[in-house]
Amino acid sequence: MAVSWTRHRFSGGTLALDATNTVVHRGDASRSFDRFDDPAEIPRFAAAARGFRAAELAHRELSVCDPVAIHGTVLAIREATDALFRATVRNGELHQALLPRFLRACADGLEGNSEAGGDPAIRFEAALAKSALSLLAEHSYRRIRNCPNCNWLFLDKSRNGSRLWCDMAVCGNRQKAKRHYRRRKAEEDQPHV
Ligand SMILES: [Zn+2]
Repeated sequence: MAVSWTRHRFSGGTLALDATNTVVHRGDASRSFDRFDDPAEIPRFAAAARGFRAAELAHRELSVCDPVAIHGTVLAIREATDALFRATVRNGELHQALLPRFLRACADGLEGNSEAGGDPAIRFEAALAKSALSLLAEHSYRRIRNCPNCNWLFLDKSRNGSRLWCDMAVCGNRQKAKRHYRRRKAEEDQPHV
C-alpha cells in the first residue's frame, strides 16, 4: 500500500534525518519495516519533502529520474547517516569509526551532480547527501536527538535544546496517555482502607 507522506513523517527537522526515519521502529525486529522497500516511494517522499523541506532545499524541486537506479545509493546514504548519528547521539561525540562509510555513501550521492546555484531542481540523492553532510557541523550534530517513544532521530531546533519527542502531538501524547493509564491503574489497585 502506498505511504501517505504526512507532516509527522517529516519530524526529523532535516531531509537526511527524515530519510533515516523511513525505517519505522528501528532496532525492534518484530515491528520494524522500511517505507523505502518499494523504490516507487522515493519520488513520492521527494514530492512531499519539497514542501516540508522547502527552506533547506532553497525552494528547489527534487528530481528523481529513475527510482530503481538510485534505490541502492539512497539506502546506503540513509543507513550510513543513521548509523553515524545514532552512535553520535549515544556517545555525545562524532563517531569517527563510522565516518569513512558515511563519506563514501555521500560521495556516491554527489557523483555526477552538476547543479548550479540557480538550478530549479536538484537530484534527490545529491540533496540527501548534502543534507547528511551538513549534520557534520558541531552545532548540528550536538542537536540531534533520539525520540524515546519511536526511536526516530530528529534535529532539535528549540531555543533551549530540550526537545524530547520527535513530535509532541504523536509521541509526546502517547507517552502521556501511557503514564496516565499506569497512574489510574496503580490507584485502582490500591487497597481501599
Ligand atoms: Zn517519536
